[in-house]
Amino acid sequence: MRTISILGATGSVGTSTLDLIRRERDDWRVVALTANCSATELAKLAIEFSAETAVVGDETCLPELREALAGTSIEASGGKQALCDASARPVDITVAAIVGCAGLAPVMAAIEQGGTIALANKEALVSAGEVMTAAVERHGATLLPVDSEHNAIFQCLQGNSIEDVRWITLTASGGPLRTLSAEQLETVTPEQAVAHPNWDMGAKISVDSATMMNKGLEFIEAYHLFPVGLDRLRIVVHPQSVIHSMVEYRDGSTLAQLGPSDMKVPIASCLAWPARMETGCEALDLAAIGELSFFNPDEVRFPATRLAREAAHHGGAAPAVLNAANEVAVAAFLAGQIAFTRIALSVETILNDTEIPSALTSLDDVLALDTMTRERTGALLERV
Ligand code: NAD
Ligand code: MG
Repeated sequence: MRTISILGATGSVGTSTLDLIRRERDDWRVVALTANCSATELAKLAIEFSAETAVVGDETCLPELREALAGTSIEASGGKQALCDASARPVDITVAAIVGCAGLAPVMAAIEQGGTIALANKEALVSAGEVMTAAVERHGATLLPVDSEHNAIFQCLQGNSIEDVRWITLTASGGPLRTLSAEQLETVTPEQAVAHPNWDMGAKISVDSATMMNKGLEFIEAYHLFPVGLDRLRIVVHPQSVIHSMVEYRDGSTLAQLGPSDMKVPIASCLAWPARMETGCEALDLAAIGELSFFNPDEVRFPATRLAREAAHHGGAAPAVLNAANEVAVAAFLAGQIAFTRIALSVETILNDTEIPSALTSLDDVLALDTMTRERTGALLERV
């Protein structure tokens, strides 16, 4: 029997993870399940999976959680510190599926207990970069990528030497707005932006896919996960999302990982790694898919990948600034406060106007810069 904690258990990745655990119910013992607020939903899951503890990040939701768990032996707690305390309980595997930099401190707490972290929460790695990878090294933890592209790359690297890699190619679906003109992009609504053609995901990552910032964040994520250097990373648009990413070696061989557009596949690969498990996902029907196509990204209509690449090349704290500004701008767009195209514009303005520290050396540094950047972006958006 293996132990597991799921941070962000009520979200898209969290519930897909629990679907997989349901298939192998007797093989797993669930330790902690967390959410931001959805207390009743969280309590239901905690009861179903006999979790040791359930935690809401938003303390105001704790009374609802307590009430929903009354009469059970499941511990209930709330607040940021409670999230970290739950994440610090030793488990075989932690699935880090909180959205945004809000997941960083819990992930760091999980890393410190030295187990395996299946990381979906890309914003945490983008913001903390070397602070996180150094902690993984120091505590002997294992980081497995859940993000489908990085999971694909991870699989394609098995049995090969990283020194032999010529290119790592991240595929991008291009999102739901791929074919819109610059003019049409001006008037895109939140409903249009979250309607992803291939993947069913949380609202924030769906907007990131529409702006292509998701691929920008993934570019930085890949830089930290796979030490080949920025000059060996590239992005290609592949609208069918069948090839999840590729690794080209110096002999000219390219290895690719293909699969259905279902996060259960990469999550299962982390849960069972280095073995395999059943997911219930349908096999790929390549003849039905027919054709696979590939394009270079259009960084005029979708400037986010350029901004992320520049932030990555700048290094230091630039990716943390990029991420925080993006989180605030995406939330403002989803709340109907700013236009779609304003998201990338705001990120660029904040990056240009910030005196970016050359390095971040601790979790506190990262969180302080994140908070400051959020405030500055909020103020900027209020002005426009
Ligand atoms: P989601 O919005 O569906 O779920 C987010 C989860 O985090 C929920 O359980 C929510 O309660 C919790 N949460 C949100 N804000 C929080 C806060 N401030 N404190 C504590 N908990 C909080 O998001 P998702 O689509 O499942 O994405 C989760 C992460 O996985 C993101 O970083 C995303 O980029 C990444 N990811 C998602 C997918 C996907 O298909 N959904 C694919 C690849 C990577
Ligand atoms: Mg991805």
